[in-house]
Amino acid sequence: MIDLKNVTFVYDNGFTALKNVSLSVAKGEFVFVIGSSGAGKSSMLKLLTRETLPTSGKVVVNGFNLGQLKRKHLPKFRRSVGMVFQDFRLIKTMNVFDNVAFSLRVTNHSSRFIRTHVPYVLKLVQLEDKAKMYPRELSGGEQQRVAIARALAIDPPLLVADEPTGNIDPELSLQIVELLRRINSYCGTTIMMVTHEHDVVRYFGGRTISIEDGKIDYDGVINKNNRR
Ligand code: ADP
Repeated sequence: MIDLKNVTFVYDNGFTALKNVSLSVAKGEFVFVIGSSGAGKSSMLKLLTRETLPTSGKVVVNGFNLGQLKRKHLPKFRRSVGMVFQDFRLIKTMNVFDNVAFSLRVTNHSSRFIRTHVPYVLKLVQLEDKAKMYPRELSGGEQQRVAIARALAIDPPLLVADEPTGNIDPELSLQIVELLRRINSYCGTTIMMVTHEHDVVRYFGGRTISIEDGKIDYDGVINKNNRR
């Protein structure tokens, strides 16, 4: 699903953000990625979404070898990775239904499919009764659930969540991670969640990859400890 082999990434100014990183994430896994600010987490995500290419090494995501991906195959690759961001990135002028339907419309799904599928994904995130509301009428946690529904609408095999709880109250943060874990086990979606909240990782446990100074300094399973 995700395969990084000896990946080094150097920014234009000569700064090396990732140093010979190798990691594999299998289909159906849920992985936390942790690391302090400036460790290289965002740089790694940019490589996984083909926003940038590695300076050296190989990046394979969902079977696409990103170093050799032809421009014409880029949209197909992008549709295979759902993204969730810290700042939600919802369209303010669209209601919840249309925010979720948006990705389906741009990928040419029929109105008939959209009419039945959007309520289905809204139900997955427990927002079926908020379809007509606008982002400004929702709490941070609810907005993030809409963003998750939007990412899931096109049924991507991989979901990458970049600090999804960063703008949410601590109590609701746990609900967001619980939701992502439920999606992982119920839908089989592989999920990589980047966070700097160590207590969230300890609360849920599971495979955790720690990046520090551009290198992986831990990749293993953390035991869960349902206390905060
Ligand atoms: P994290 O997401 O873990 O906070 P980043 O991947 O954003 O870390 O950054 C890793 C390092 O790369 C940092 O030291 C940062 O200053 C540097 N960096 C990030 N973006 C750029 C850029 N566009 N040009 C040069 N250096 C950058």
